[in-house]
Amino acid sequence: MAGSLLKYGMAFVPDPGEADIVVVNTCAFIEAAREESRETILSICDLKKEGSCKAILVAGCMSQRYKNNMQELFPDVDAFIGLDELEKIGEIAEQIITGDNKGLVEVSDEAVKLYEPEFPELVLTGGPYAYLKIAEGCNHKCSFCAIPSIRGSRRSRSLDNILSEASRLLENGIKELDVIAQDIMAYGKDIDNGVGLPTLLKELSSLGGDHWVRLLYGYPTGVTNDLLAVMAENSVICRYLDIPIQHSHPDILKGMRRAETADQLEDMITRIRNTLPGVALRTTCLVGFPGEEEEHFGHLLDFVKAMRFDHLGVFVYSPEDNTPAFDMKNVPEREIAEERRHELMIAQRDIVDEKSQELINTEANVLVEQFHPEDDGIFIGRSERLAPEIDGEIFIRGTSEEDIGKFIKVRYIKQLDYDMVGKKVE
Ligand code: SF4
Repeated sequence: MAGSLLKYGMAFVPDPGEADIVVVNTCAFIEAAREESRETILSICDLKKEGSCKAILVAGCMSQRYKNNMQELFPDVDAFIGLDELEKIGEIAEQIITGDNKGLVEVSDEAVKLYEPEFPELVLTGGPYAYLKIAEGCNHKCSFCAIPSIRGSRRSRSLDNILSEASRLLENGIKELDVIAQDIMAYGKDIDNGVGLPTLLKELSSLGGDHWVRLLYGYPTGVTNDLLAVMAENSVICRYLDIPIQHSHPDILKGMRRAETADQLEDMITRIRNTLPGVALRTTCLVGFPGEEEEHFGHLLDFVKAMRFDHLGVFVYSPEDNTPAFDMKNVPEREIAEERRHELMIAQRDIVDEKSQELINTEANVLVEQFHPEDDGIFIGRSERLAPEIDGEIFIRGTSEEDIGKFIKVRYIKQLDYDMVGKKVE
């Protein structure tokens, strides 16, 4: 979208208050995400009323999912585009900025496209890392999840296209490629050439230069021995895996239509840790799913305590239209589900404290990313154990501006909640 806007002569400004046109890219897979999208759209509508913004364009999953209602919900928005209309954004932006085409809705019935960056790529992360999307859509049928109905079935990008995008990013100074898809483990299963995630990772590792490759969002049962072997052999691939388990109790996993059992999950985690010593594991759990009783939740709590994940996210179940779980009975009260979420996070807090203490006085390779905004002389970076935006950070002493965008050796000094403080090792 940024490339298309550039092509139509738009320039980017850091503050929406300075923009002639504001693009809101929305999320809509659960109620909390919709609420955030709604609030953002309405705050931009206020900007428009105050006169600083001339036009608003809403893109993303919310436009796609609620294409028939968006205009009514947000009458001050000038245009809505769906997931298959991204390359039209420059043209549409140009039209609406002049006041033409008010209330335009360009959303196809179904998302089927697979985008390749055909414009100059812009990395908007603000750091020396970039997300590398390897596939779009999902073929799993998790009963609670609206994503396949919004983003369509899985379609994988070709190996050549991914590698050429990755090369361009690295040539332009990117130091960390964050591999993403709805399920990265399923990469290539829809292309009949035997190329899967292990092959892709081998190729990404051999691109040369000084970089990291990080794997985000993988369906747990997709972690194969081949994949672990490639990760073990290539130091470019971060010893980090993000594998959302959602739950551990067999009855709940069955209700969620997830293929795995708690035993399989435990075996998988042991296999990963044996093959990749020191690996950092992130997972996500869903509490308050229909039929979740205290006994089921207790099972999950025990599992999380026993598995000692390095990073944990917990969501409360959100009933979603057009999903099999929507009509399921015995949904725990919201308050109870929130309490369960809290209880899991408290248990995880203890695990994080223990693990952080174990790191003190050890050393790690750290990617220096930016100045500390409030503390002169302190810089912020991440080790391979920390993914951008979602995990903690490392506050580094004894380094300088010249190290931004470079890997340096850091010794951990102390823990600061979910973050760490460290000192550059000369
Ligand atoms: S694997 Fe993830 S995106 Fe796909 S259906 Fe399940 S929860 Fe949704």
